[in-house]
Amino acid sequence: MTATPILAVGSIALDTIETPQGQRRDILGGSATFFGVAAALFAPVRLVGVVGSDYPEAGWQLFHSRGIDVGDVQRVSGATFRWGGRYTNDLNDRETLFTELGVFENFEPVLSQQNQRSEIVYLGNIQPSLQLAIRANTPGARRVISDTMNLWINEKGEELNEVLGKTDILLINEEEALQLTGQDDGSAATAELLESGPHTVVIKQGQGGSILATGSTRQHIPIYHQANRVDPTGAGDSFAGGFSGHIANHGGADLEEAVITGTAMASYTVEDYGLEGLLKATAEGVEQRSAAIRRMMD
Ligand code: AMP
Repeated sequence: MTATPILAVGSIALDTIETPQGQRRDILGGSATFFGVAAALFAPVRLVGVVGSDYPEAGWQLFHSRGIDVGDVQRVSGATFRWGGRYTNDLNDRETLFTELGVFENFEPVLSQQNQRSEIVYLGNIQPSLQLAIRANTPGARRVISDTMNLWINEKGEELNEVLGKTDILLINEEEALQLTGQDDGSAATAELLESGPHTVVIKQGQGGSILATGSTRQHIPIYHQANRVDPTGAGDSFAGGFSGHIANHGGADLEEAVITGTAMASYTVEDYGLEGLLKATAEGVEQRSAAIRRMMD
């Protein structure tokens, strides 16, 4: 089967990361970047976004080297999106130090004719008004996969509810699912989210794995156990890339396999700072890790 192209919007960022072991400053990151690199192992990826005049050449080279279409990524004068995060407690807790939207603040996406005809659309973590603008410009989308995070839940809850109403599959951390619904337990939050638009919700529980929830079915998928955890930044977006790439490549009939692929993909990301771990992932390596996850489920 030929893979269906994925249109993806999200941040294209420079990240500053602090872990108990070390620090990195202004390294390539952003939800669309992690997503794109991960999904491109399985399907053509077309990104939508904006970068500033300070965006490094290395970023463009990365996209080109991975065959990612950046025709709808604008370069304008101003500062690239910047995010800073600090990890504590064995990398299990994360504090956002700063989020500087920079050129994303006034970004008005313009989609090529080809991208407007996209069938698979990934509305990655970015301001919900932008997610809605992309959705409004992709009338033929038959599978819309969305993600978000705490900042947008806190600041743009109403728009986010509109995004949910236009989403088929929602990928979300358990903590954020509780925050978004106001519920205090995961299963009540999942049920409420399934009433709000998406037919499928994947609740990510960090080291606890994830729950694939559709209608009344709930399936737990464990994580891939690895020795080396260095920096979890981008794990969620890499999960989304593996998940969506699997759907684009296999038609989306087996969502459990898509979650396993996303889980295996995320395991690469946490093994090094920024994109360094994910860039070592290959389709064969992801399949081997997927097989290890499947064995844990037997
Ligand atoms: P993750 O670890 O998968 O939740 O995603 C981390 C990535 O998301 C980093 O590379 C950041 O640049 C990016 N990011 C952080 N906060 C936001 C935000 N509020 N909107 C969009 N992207 C963000």
